[in-house]
Amino acid sequence: MTDHSAAQLNTLRLAADEIGIDAAGDLLSRGELVAIPTETVYGLAADALNGEAVSRIFEAKGRPSDNPLIVHIADRADWAKLVKEIPENANKLADKFWPGPLTIILPASDLIPPQVTAGLKTVAVRFPAHPVTIEVIKAEGCSLAAPSANRSGAPSPTNAARVLEDMDGRIAGVLDGGDCAVGVESTVVDLSLPRPRLLRPGGITPEMLREVLFELDIDPAVTAAPKAGTVVASPGMKYTHYSPRARVTLIQSTPEKFTEFVNAQQHQHPTALCFDGEEQGLLVPFLTYGRRDDPETQAKLLFDKLRQLDDAGATLVYAACPTPDGVGLAVYNRLIRAAGFEVIKLD
Ligand code: AMP
Ligand code: MG
Repeated sequence: MTDHSAAQLNTLRLAADEIGIDAAGDLLSRGELVAIPTETVYGLAADALNGEAVSRIFEAKGRPSDNPLIVHIADRADWAKLVKEIPENANKLADKFWPGPLTIILPASDLIPPQVTAGLKTVAVRFPAHPVTIEVIKAEGCSLAAPSANRSGAPSPTNAARVLEDMDGRIAGVLDGGDCAVGVESTVVDLSLPRPRLLRPGGITPEMLREVLFELDIDPAVTAAPKAGTVVASPGMKYTHYSPRARVTLIQSTPEKFTEFVNAQQHQHPTALCFDGEEQGLLVPFLTYGRRDDPETQAKLLFDKLRQLDDAGATLVYAACPTPDGVGLAVYNRLIRAAGFEVIKLD
């Protein structure tokens, strides 16, 4: 077993082929941490049933210990071992959206170590759709606990190079599966409550969930800053999150008003984060993150663009606000946290 008290590990770069996947499975079975691709973002994986290995995820990320992890499975039969029971609405969701970017919260079975749930009585489980993720889970054995593979608070990584920026020397390996297709983390639905509740929006939208669920509450923390002193249903949603080093402000406006506003702040040397096709007329440096009417592309690009803002040394960013509909709700949810809930509305 590796001496984890040593500050630096030699992080192995593994190709997503049979040899790399077997090596990742071996490391994980031995209690090591390996970053793995999924269809949402890269995950920092450990054997979900090994509490000691799971606790190292928190160390490597600098993650607050009260923020629980998602358990990933590659066979629906394993779900029954991880939760107390599977109600009908959970099975219906899984029938429709698994494998895929949907995480379902249910009361945890006694198999789940407390490190995974951060002491909660419930556990979040997902069956991912990425073929490499599925192969790694099978190579390891049964289930992998995996939060996003970034240092806590930073934008989630959507390729192996971004994982290494945060995790080189801190984990045993990274499996390179290329770019993630969805680009934002999974939708999280809590089915342990009297009524189903959306805790985090993602690639599976509220409209898609409502096609299966008779009722669905949206947690207020999805779109608004949690009020000081309130108990947050999804602990991960209470932190300022996904942030580049720059101060980010969201601008809710037409493209014309956005350009006018940003140009008027030129003396502060801001960088604009705007939509494709709306960059004309901007007198400051800018990055674009997809077209205004294309939330799927916005989701795929957002986290890497936030990291590119750091690469460019941006200190002040004005970001064009996405429309919070469909997958756009997930983009809005991440960007408003990157902005520490700072929004300017221009009419
Ligand atoms: P990450 O894997 O970094 O995307 O974080 C996992 C997300 O799922 C965080 O927002 C957690 O707070 C949330 N989560 C995981 N397990 C639970 C649970 N049992 N109850 C509520 N939220 C959870
Ligand atoms: Mg995360």
